[in-house]
Amino acid sequence: MTKPEAIHKVSVVIPVYNEQESLPELIRRTTAACETLGKDYEILLVDDGSSDESAAMLSDAAEAPGSHVVAVLLNRNYGQHNAIMAGFSHVTGDLIVTLDADLQNPPEEIPRLVAKADEGYDVVGTVRQNRQDTWFRKRASRLINRLIQSTTGKAMGDYGCMLRAYRRHIIDAMLHCHERSTFIPILANTFARKAIEIPVHHAEREFGESKYSFMRLINLMYDLVTCLTTTPLRMLSVFGSIIAVLGFTLSVLLVVLRFAFGPQWAAEGVFMLFAVLFMFIGAQFVGMGLLGEYIGRIYTDVRARPRYFIQRVVSRDSVSTSEENQQ
Ligand code: UDP
Ligand code: MG
Repeated sequence: MTKPEAIHKVSVVIPVYNEQESLPELIRRTTAACETLGKDYEILLVDDGSSDESAAMLSDAAEAPGSHVVAVLLNRNYGQHNAIMAGFSHVTGDLIVTLDADLQNPPEEIPRLVAKADEGYDVVGTVRQNRQDTWFRKRASRLINRLIQSTTGKAMGDYGCMLRAYRRHIIDAMLHCHERSTFIPILANTFARKAIEIPVHHAEREFGESKYSFMRLINLMYDLVTCLTTTPLRMLSVFGSIIAVLGFTLSVLLVVLRFAFGPQWAAEGVFMLFAVLFMFIGAQFVGMGLLGEYIGRIYTDVRARPRYFIQRVVSRDSVSTSEENQQ
């Protein structure tokens, strides 16, 4: 295994949507945390079309003398993950850390993430300890986490937490993905060679309310599932086949019993009618599943993810160049 590339500069990307109350403290605490790194750093704050003073506050922070803040202002609200992607397209660091603007992810954890990445990990995820969210959201997350683990086979405990660190080549790979709806932690994981998770603290939201309504959460969940897999479409075929087989078995059973107990028992063929109906319903699901398979493939092609992504090319020439550099 080659030695991990050194991290010289850290970029922190934070999506901001109507967070004017928490911004001053966010910038202060994030800057303080980055100062302790002993590396160059930048803090990219992406304003996701806020309707409050957030955008103006970000511009002011970026223009202040000696500021490490870069303000990226979007023209309207595009959603958290798109805002983060917009931030990614402007980062200059070797390691990119994302976190939420509402201070639910303590910026003080950044140095721990950077230290872990320094050990050679591509992606450093986090698991929220004593998660401060509603009961419903915790339940939903647990369900989704289990689904993800069973489909990817990768044991990543907590996909919902945005406090994460990614090396530059992972970001580059993600920027090459053209789909419109993304779920960043999952997408990043598909490109990671070495990933790890560390426990982090989680705080309650101090100011304002969660920007996710019930409908937006459902939307996010669909983004997550479609970003990950087209298996749900295949489930239609599986489900249909099961119904059809059951319907067929039932009809055979009914015919046998009909001859054993007579037409009275068979309710003059009503049961048989149901059995045949089940077979047809099953066949319809199989048909839908088949359509789904095509749609799934069309979807995969349309989003045009790169077929592969080369992290580094090592050849004798490049080795000699680096040796020359050392001389
Ligand atoms: N956010 C955003 N655009 C949106 C919704 C949210 O940029 O359309 C940002 C928000 O400012 C915060 C982060 O995404 O920094 C997470 O949002 P929130 O805290 O509301 O989500 P929750 O913690 O409830 O999952
Ligand atoms: Mg939050």
